[in-house]
Amino acid sequence: MMEQALFEAKQASDLGEVPVGAVLVLKGEIIARGHNLTESQKDATAHAEMVCIRKGAKIVQDWRLLGTTLYTTLEPCAMCGGAILLSRLSRVVWAAPDCRHGANGSWVNLFEKKHPTHQLKIVGGLYEMRAAELMRLFFKKQRESGWKKT
Ligand SMILES: [Zn+2]
Repeated sequence: MMEQALFEAKQASDLGEVPVGAVLVLKGEIIARGHNLTESQKDATAHAEMVCIRKGAKIVQDWRLLGTTLYTTLEPCAMCGGAILLSRLSRVVWAAPDCRHGANGSWVNLFEKKHPTHQLKIVGGLYEMRAAELMRLFFKKQRESGWKKT
């Protein structure tokens, strides 16, 4: 499944977006896929995880995504972490840490305290090297082309 999330990250990269991809899985099947669309949609909330959560809710016809697992190539940020908790996902697997915005310990940790109403399993580091390499190559290319945004 993380291979599929990496595929989505490459799709983002091809669009000139920071390469982050995600897939949402229910009962062993991918029910939604998404990649970062922040630049093309001019929307700071268009992170891969948000795109995936929104699509997933439409597919299951419920905002409660119980029993689903989200695979994402980057440690979720505080916004996505909040959406993950609110949508009641069961499990999150992320690949590379995000030292600037990561909300599973790299910057803050939204998940260290047990949630009062539901349980979320979250684990990081799966395919970390591959996801981090995609990011590194993307930012190298951006720097070489004179990109100044942060
Ligand atoms: Zn995010």
